[in-house]
Amino acid sequence: MNRVRLLVLNAALGPLDYRVPEGTVVKPGSVVRAPLGPREVIGIVWDEGRLEAASVPDNKLRPILGILPVPPLTDELRRLVEWTADYYCAAPASVARMVLSSGGALKGPATMTEYRLTGTMPDRMTAQREQALERLEGEQATLRELAAIAEVSEGVLRGLANMGALEAVAVDCDRPFPRAEPDHAVPALNPEQQAAADRFSEAITNGGFAPFLLDGVTGSGKTEVYFEAIATALKEGRQVLVLLPEIALTEAFLKRFEARFGAAPVTWHSSLKSTERRRAWRAIASGEAQVVVGARSALFLPYARLGLIVVDEAHEVSFKQDDGVRYNARDVAVMRGRFAGIPVILASATPALESLQMADSGVYEKIELAARYGGAQLPDIAVLDLRADPPPRGRWLAPKLVEQLELRAERGEQSLLFLNRRGYAPLTLCRHCGYRFQCPNCSAWLVEHRFSQRLACHHCGHETPPPPACPECGTEDCLVACGPGVERIADEVAELMPKARVAVATSDTLNTPERAAEFIALAEARQIDVIVGTQLVTKGFHFPELTLVGVVDADLGLEGGDLRAAERTYQQIAQVAGRAGRGAKPGEVLIQTRHPEAPVITALAAGDRDAFYTAEAEARREAGAPPFGRWAAIIVSSEDEAEARDAARAIGGKRPELADIAILGPAPAPLALLRGRYRYRLLVNARRTAQVQDVIRQWLGGFDLPRSVRVSVDIDPYSFV
Ligand code: ADP
Ligand code: ZN
Repeated sequence: MNRVRLLVLNAALGPLDYRVPEGTVVKPGSVVRAPLGPREVIGIVWDEGRLEAASVPDNKLRPILGILPVPPLTDELRRLVEWTADYYCAAPASVARMVLSSGGALKGPATMTEYRLTGTMPDRMTAQREQALERLEGEQATLRELAAIAEVSEGVLRGLANMGALEAVAVDCDRPFPRAEPDHAVPALNPEQQAAADRFSEAITNGGFAPFLLDGVTGSGKTEVYFEAIATALKEGRQVLVLLPEIALTEAFLKRFEARFGAAPVTWHSSLKSTERRRAWRAIASGEAQVVVGARSALFLPYARLGLIVVDEAHEVSFKQDDGVRYNARDVAVMRGRFAGIPVILASATPALESLQMADSGVYEKIELAARYGGAQLPDIAVLDLRADPPPRGRWLAPKLVEQLELRAERGEQSLLFLNRRGYAPLTLCRHCGYRFQCPNCSAWLVEHRFSQRLACHHCGHETPPPPACPECGTEDCLVACGPGVERIADEVAELMPKARVAVATSDTLNTPERAAEFIALAEARQIDVIVGTQLVTKGFHFPELTLVGVVDADLGLEGGDLRAAERTYQQIAQVAGRAGRGAKPGEVLIQTRHPEAPVITALAAGDRDAFYTAEAEARREAGAPPFGRWAAIIVSSEDEAEARDAARAIGGKRPELADIAILGPAPAPLALLRGRYRYRLLVNARRTAQVQDVIRQWLGGFDLPRSVRVSVDIDPYSFV
């Protein structure tokens, strides 16, 4: 090749053509450096794919500058980049950035200097030095990382190094990961599990695209089953990707994985240090990383020999990315399986309606696990009608639920209270004048967090300490909390049961893998009697002594008019109910509600999943909602309200008139102000057969809007705010 088309990592630019200098050999997928104006950019050599570049005569082309020391991106991955960009109306460069997501990895092999204690004492001791010596026991890391661990300056550590108390160690940045052994600790599967595992293994050995829906009740041993599929892939010398919805789940998963395979898998998530990222990235690209467990972004990594993808808790909303490239990792995983020609397993006890529909129509193969492993029974579910049996004033737990909590505590069993609201109270107001605390950047109330003593916006992160007086009327000590959050429920439990050990489990309290691990260890050691948690505790956890689950407010999720509100409520409650009675003792679930007659609640109480899905499918069919029709959202935003409105109106005014596509709006988005930007929304509702993306691209392509206006397209949206 002496002329190549590059996908450069700059979303504002289309693909560009370059000349390949004499003697340089590039291949499709090679990652190269190229000149762009006075600067240099990274680009990927593209083949005749679907990226059209402007035509430039050969003699005007600039030469590429060099090839980066990483393997060329596979054809499969390049097709995935094209598909993702095309489907989600995103710039191919933005998708490619998710592939080349470690700057360090692109620089090639490297060593780095880490430091560790030598045992030698410094000549002169200071308080800072003493602190460093104490905290760095057993640690080895870069100076900067050690400084963070010891909470001293790097200067203090350099001083210690000069005195011989710290020594430098040269570390290969790409040192190999421990090997996973497929036969390390093979479990005996029950017949139902064995049949499922055999089917997966067959598909892996045969090769070829094979999408599966692993539909098994909570506690049926789905993880155990897909571990056998992983073992088969490993024996075939293939790599495996396991996508998990939440980093808080990773710790428990890693422990289990290590027990089964004798070594931890490679992890990938946003809180990795840059050295960890580069090491993982390079091991993935070389094929050395055998099993990668990660958040959705792990989907775009350059696996050399991918043989299987597992999406665990595949129904989870967090697989949908809501900024940047707005993709759904569950759906992109299936596409990657297709391009790579490999099996994909979507595992869930409460699959998304979309996935069930694909299984029912024969596109996905459904593998069912109908019973809990080891004879454990699914819990009994009862409804507590809050209208008939209300909690006392100012309290949130009905007497019957409290009675059951006390009973479990007496028996030494654990309980879990579920409320999907972080913090102490969702709204704070002034008793005197009624002033409500609102976020200055968002149309949202500030949420009181009592543990950390702040009022916080859950949308933009704005925080302020609770003021001593009302900012409106100046009355002191007048703030009242309205409604409950998990912290308030935890307070209520502590008042009612002073001896109970209560733990709050939310993304605020379990915000690092270490904290999550600590929580799991405490719960497993039965050092916690009552867990109060958000959706974070609805999945993954397996505490055999947990026998009671209380749903504090089942109606909460049904408010708000979200397209998937009923489905999400069903999934959350069925999942959290699935935490009860996983061991030898039977579990019980109490659902507090003001609408015991709502279809979701009656289906949950009757344990009739099919009834719920059938009714929900009918409602969706009538509304032309997914999976029977399609939605797309177009959000027009600006820091200037009038500018946002005018742009949205201009776009709305040029809407295409088509038989198979209806366009609603523009109207102010439910979150009309977010992070300081005013937002207007247009909703596109289309028949399944409509060419939605092409229509949207053509429609939006023709506007010359001010640069301060942002237009973002969300295909198959999950968030309707
Ligand atoms: P799910 O993911 O379907 O909720 P898990 O895979 O977490 O279920 O299994 C539930 C519990 O049963 C776990 O503690 C798991 O270790 C145990 N288990 C499942 N299958 C087996 C098996 N074949 N042998 C031993 N223990 C098993
Ligand atoms: Zn805000």
